[in-house]
Amino acid sequence: MDASKVYFYDNLSNLKAGVNKIFKMIADEVDIEETMGIKIHFGEGDNDTHVNPNHLRDVTKYFKKPVFVECNVLYRGNRLRKDSHLKQAADHGFDFIEIDILDGEMGEDYSEIEIETKNTKKAKIGRGLKKYDNLISIAHFKGHIVSGFGGALKNVGMGLGSRGGKLDMHAGVSPKIDEANCIACGSCAEQCPADAITVDNFAVINQEICIGCAQCIAVCPEGVIKIPWGTRPTNEFLEKIAEYTLACVKDKNWWYINFLTDITMKCDCVGSKQEPFMKDIGILFSKDPIAIEKASMNLIIERNNGVNPFKTHNKNSIHILKYGEEIGLGTMKYELENVK
Ligand code: SF4
Ligand code: SF4
Repeated sequence: MDASKVYFYDNLSNLKAGVNKIFKMIADEVDIEETMGIKIHFGEGDNDTHVNPNHLRDVTKYFKKPVFVECNVLYRGNRLRKDSHLKQAADHGFDFIEIDILDGEMGEDYSEIEIETKNTKKAKIGRGLKKYDNLISIAHFKGHIVSGFGGALKNVGMGLGSRGGKLDMHAGVSPKIDEANCIACGSCAEQCPADAITVDNFAVINQEICIGCAQCIAVCPEGVIKIPWGTRPTNEFLEKIAEYTLACVKDKNWWYINFLTDITMKCDCVGSKQEPFMKDIGILFSKDPIAIEKASMNLIIERNNGVNPFKTHNKNSIHILKYGEEIGLGTMKYELENVK
């Protein structure tokens, strides 16, 4: 496979101008009348190192119908449900264009996209993604405690998984109930689409019939239905993110923008402020999600005195790029071209 082009804009005093140049490059490739979905993470709670929405404000000059697209998250927080998710997006300044939460009120609305990969045959993706043919991933590149780093692949593959898809990537099939703190209210059993929960003194999930939709996690008023984080081997977790990305990009046009700014050790799902640990680098743009991730990591290592800062999280985070190549998402070979 030939090397992919990755564009690099590093005028840190005017990142908005760089974004506009990239939007113009994308706009030249599409019909301006068509809807442009923009997948972005709005940042959880007090997080303030997510992508700064002010850099994106000129988007309507380049696309007539830009829409921020996102799915609800797995864990308890502001982005667990559509209403509080939209409020979170507005609180962080992303309400200047339409926002479309693709997987319903509580992550229950998904379609299964069939792919032929090692770990995934049917990826559970927010149903609303079907409406979009053209999409831009705008990702904040930073560390992640399990995957090592998070950028375009995590933004698309993990981000657009429905709640059940996210559970599938993280942990396998079923959530676990903290029986000692269950108040036996029955809400989970009422909402379970597979009738997999019975409640007596406490709720019990029948693992044989649970379909892993994770709906019960969202409805439990006590927060005692837990995601068994980390029960999936890490390489398989990384492979699943790549596989879900493949499902999301299937039959669609995607462009990828990575912000290498406010680079933190943990992801934007952490609902508290984090201190960036290194200087800003700039913005990268590519049509290849593997090439842009590789270029992002290389720049970070180069500017961090040759040391991968995320190796404390995961020494083998590069596995997602190798595997992404194997399943045809792109190539780690890239040519970096400066955007002036
Ligand atoms: S127990 Fe029911 S609601 Fe919970 S994940 Fe399984 S199928 Fe979904
Ligand atoms: S919703 Fe939560 S507290 Fe209520 S029965 Fe289910 S697990 Fe227990």
